Order: sequence, then structure tokens, then C-alpha cells
Amino acid sequence: MLISEIFYSLQGEGELTGVPSVFIRTSGCNLRCNWCDTMYASWQPEGDPMSVDEILRKVDSFPAAQHCVLTGGEPMVAKGIHELAAALKSSGKHITIETAATIPPAGIVCDLASLSPKLTNSTPDARLSEAWRHKHEELRVQPAVVADWIAHYPYQLKFVITSEADLQEIQLLLAQFGREIPPVKILLMPEGTSSKAIRERDETLVDACKRYGYRYCDRLHVELFGHTRGT
Ligand code: SF4
Repeated sequence: MLISEIFYSLQGEGELTGVPSVFIRTSGCNLRCNWCDTMYASWQPEGDPMSVDEILRKVDSFPAAQHCVLTGGEPMVAKGIHELAAALKSSGKHITIETAATIPPAGIVCDLASLSPKLTNSTPDARLSEAWRHKHEELRVQPAVVADWIAHYPYQLKFVITSEADLQEIQLLLAQFGREIPPVKILLMPEGTSSKAIRERDETLVDACKRYGYRYCDRLHVELFGHTRGT
């Protein structure tokens, strides 16, 4: 499969924030979010082909790591992702899969499904062709697929927030998932790739979390390392 990067860092987002983890970033994505912070794995996918064995060897070079994160791009479109997850599990790793939840899990091995359905704020602008913009809109929310993940895995539901208007959209989406989702499982994460941009959204997010009982999701890696690859 095409691999953009493999690196050892601290998980910066969600329930496992702060946990040392090996990140395996596949390259390629079926969406084109306007604010994507890993364009090199989505809009312009770069990387090197690696076999499952080669990836395992690289992961083994970080012997202290107990946690692995399959991320992207969209890891669920990577050929061989099921085999990779199974092999990592066999070697004793905890596996988080960070996905937009547009592709069904199909039995993939996973200890934490970090599901991030994309809101209207992700719609790409005129930099992209009309065909890609249409594809993004058609694909970005798949309620049945989200429900499939939620039914079969421990999960967190992470929404990227740019404004107060996103909160109403989230309410409409949650009603489509066909089950009650505990508010503490719903994470609101500020959009932004600098501390300044993230902090500017704090007031909206903190207020929304208190109002709905949702959880605030910071971006620790941005605070610690800035917007740089390999972190
Ligand atoms: S789903 Fe993730 S990787 Fe793909 S375009 Fe959106 S933000 Fe980027």
C-alpha cells in the first residue's frame, strides 16, 4: 500500500491524547476537504509503496510503542489495510483507526474507531473540479456506514468545527445515525493548524460543549510541534 509517512509521536487528538503512538499514514483519500491538513496524503497523494512486512519492521523500530494509529488520507481505502491491522494486532498493538467513516469496516481489527464524518464546512472550493466537488458532497456523510462502525467497535465521534452553525448540522446528523450516542462520545475539535487559529475558536467550542454535554477535543500536536510533518 502507498505509505505517506510512519512516525512515532504523541496522540494529539481524542480519548487517547498524550499516548505515545506509532502513526502509519496511508496516502490517498476519497474526499477532498477544503481545510485538509494533510494534502500530501489526499489532494496530492505522495508516498512509497510498502508491504505489510516492511511496515511491521518500521513499527518494530519503536519498541516502546504499544499503540498504533492507522490514519491518512483515508486508511480504509488503502489496499491491504485489513491485513495490516490484523498483523499489528497479532504483534500486541492497540489499534486506532482514524477514518471519515465513509467506508464500511468489513470486520477490520480495531480497538478504537475514531470516526470523523465531514460537515458542510469541509466542502472544497473552486480549486477543485466540479466533478471532485460533487463527489465530495455525495460521499462525505454516510449514516449507515457510521452506524456500522458504531455498532461493532469502541468509538469516538469527532467533528471539525469552524463556526457556531456547525452545531445545528451535527444535531441533524446525529438523528440519522439510528441510535442514541452518549454526548461524551461526541468530540468537538477546532479547525486550524496554528495555536492562534485553534484558540480563536475556543469560545464557541467551550460554550457548545457545556450546552450539549459534548467533549472538547484539543489538537495537542499543533500546540507541541506546530503544523509539521512527522508529528
Ligand atoms: S478525509 Fe481527512 S485526509 Fe481526506 S481530505 Fe478530508 S481531512 Fe483530508
